[in-house]
Amino acid sequence: MASLPWSQQLAKNLADRKTAGRYRQQRTRLGEQGVEVIIDGKQLLSFCSNDYLGLASHPALKKAFIDAVEHDGVGAGAAHLLTGHSQYHQQLEEQLADFMGQQRALLFSSGYQANIGVIDGLMTRGDYILQDKLNHASLLDGGRLCSAEQLRYQHNDMHALQRRLQQSEKAAHRLIVTDGVFSMDGDIAPLPELISLAKQHSTAVMIDDAHGLGVLGKQGRGTVEHYQIEQQSMPIIMGTFGKAFGTAGAFVAADEEVIDTLIQQARSFVYTTAQPSAIAAATLASLKLIQDENWRRDKLQTLIRQFKVGAAELGLQLIDSDTAIQPIVMGDDEQAITIGKQLEEKGLLVGVIRPPTVPEGSARLRITLSANHSEQQVTQLLDGLELVHAH
Ligand SMILES: *Cc1c(COP(=O)(O)O)cnc(C)c1O
Repeated sequence: MASLPWSQQLAKNLADRKTAGRYRQQRTRLGEQGVEVIIDGKQLLSFCSNDYLGLASHPALKKAFIDAVEHDGVGAGAAHLLTGHSQYHQQLEEQLADFMGQQRALLFSSGYQANIGVIDGLMTRGDYILQDKLNHASLLDGGRLCSAEQLRYQHNDMHALQRRLQQSEKAAHRLIVTDGVFSMDGDIAPLPELISLAKQHSTAVMIDDAHGLGVLGKQGRGTVEHYQIEQQSMPIIMGTFGKAFGTAGAFVAADEEVIDTLIQQARSFVYTTAQPSAIAAATLASLKLIQDENWRRDKLQTLIRQFKVGAAELGLQLIDSDTAIQPIVMGDDEQAITIGKQLEEKGLLVGVIRPPTVPEGSARLRITLSANHSEQQVTQLLDGLELVHAH
């Protein structure tokens, strides 16, 4: 095989991927993101976006975005440390720090960049990073990129974490890293136990709350509010705007020293163009809605309960999740793909997630709910899911 010309080798790899049911492909959306979307020309009822509060196409966000474009133009034109940091960016950082109850917040252009920036920016040779095995790819990549040692522990297993802490006592500094809400499972990290272990072993904690922010907690402050974590135990928090916030980009909230260090050392912050300031303006509008409109979280919770009860009645195997992410594990790749296709023929769009995004043998339908779904639409999904039993 090694003797094949490169392009032929690539073509063969792609063909192998297709045969294995692991081929990935973009599909084109026409019009707004929402619960009813037009994908590849076909109108579908979608249960696979991360727009959990239904804000991505909200009029208040559109207006804030357009007004900011009128005021600031489109491109940020430079990195935050040059002339890219606008008044909207500054205001958003200040409001996020307040919202999260942290000393300071720092914007990144995407969650992926925030995660590699925090890990690579804070940790160095002689340090240890301890990560949950099911953490988001960007967190694991942050660990791979930096010169610290990285150990992984079994998913949400605090005994396994404790063993890793004992194994790494010689480290100069340590950081435990976990998703707040796990992106492919929807379950929540056991933060109180995790933070208490971290304290016993003088270890810092970082949580990636991409799927908790806006959704969990009375005010939408995510996993830390869900558990009512006290001020003096606050971990470093990474949050993204591409999910419940309905915009784009990300932030890290932490104490002054951590943020100031990231400004100096996080390469994915320093060496990238700031997001357009209109995005920050729209995110300010969405932060206000997240704080003011509790009904979105309440409605989402009602739909989650409806879905769980209905799915249990159908005898479907759900993961223990009380969040907007409700996976149905099929195991077999082919079976997950077939059911996904059949649902689509009925006008229902769900995520079909295969390895390596999830562990081997755990291919699944990843169903996500949004405050913009109606109970009738959830019933429609449940009716469609009856066909899982035909397999
Ligand atoms: C989506 C996601 C990210 C990446 O955020 P982007 O802004 O989309 O780059 C990071 N972590 C988790 C858990 C995510 O779900």
